[in-house]
Amino acid sequence: MALRPSSVRATKSGGKRVTRRKRRPPDPAKAWARRLARTRPGLVDFVLQELAGRYGRPVWQRRLDPTSELVLTILSQNSADVNAERAFESLRAAFPSGAGVEIHEPGPGWGGRGLTPGAPPDWAAVEAAPIGQLVEAIRPGGLAVQKAPRIQAALRHIREERGNHSLEFLGEMSALEARDWLTGIDGIGKKTASVLLLFSFGLPLMPVDRHVERVSKRIGLLPAKATSDQAHDEYLAVLEPDRVLEAHVNLIQHGRVICHARNPEHDRCPVAARCRFVDPRAL
Ligand code: SF4
Repeated sequence: MALRPSSVRATKSGGKRVTRRKRRPPDPAKAWARRLARTRPGLVDFVLQELAGRYGRPVWQRRLDPTSELVLTILSQNSADVNAERAFESLRAAFPSGAGVEIHEPGPGWGGRGLTPGAPPDWAAVEAAPIGQLVEAIRPGGLAVQKAPRIQAALRHIREERGNHSLEFLGEMSALEARDWLTGIDGIGKKTASVLLLFSFGLPLMPVDRHVERVSKRIGLLPAKATSDQAHDEYLAVLEPDRVLEAHVNLIQHGRVICHARNPEHDRCPVAARCRFVDPRAL
């Protein structure tokens, strides 16, 4: 770590001693935000404005209780959202709870049809189930063998820490404290934690999924070589908190509708004039 001179002090013997202070390492996410603002001023506002003109401005509303949101998000990891919904509905049928019925309001940005109304599964029964039974229950979602132990480990962690399976307490924490708590669970990364906290509590955390990452890197909103982990923090430095939901939902929409992984439709794109994929020198 770099040191810098701080002050020169007299010693008891009359000599002089230079004390040095540790220089704090620069925050790479803030450095990226400063660089973007300096080299491409107004880019974030331009992109959000154009995408809102095409897709509208989403209004936040809670989609599900946070424990259901967590498990549904685990089920959607590397699977289509519609398959995650099938797995979640199968989980409800296999482990019925008799709790109150929830209405799933996924809104734009979610790629499924929305869950049919139903009570959340009995989380204690899901946690205690023989692993083979849980694998069978979530098989319609794909990658069941990997996801079943991840779901049980998450439920066990929550119960051991909190005494039950509720995650409502996260709404009382700051956004980054809540994210840290969740990422302390094995198998839960910043993306899954951010989805839960954004959609269950409206906390301003930006989930960077494959659509958001692809579109953002093409335009130049994120550095081309940013890892997924870095991208989450860079977006927190780049975005105003009250624009996080809009940015997340509309970048996903854009990735699905126009900026496809293969054959992006530049001719139909409202941000093409400032996209570095089209013009590497675009400002
Ligand atoms: S101009 Fe092309 S690559 Fe750039 S955001 Fe639009 S569709 Fe994607």
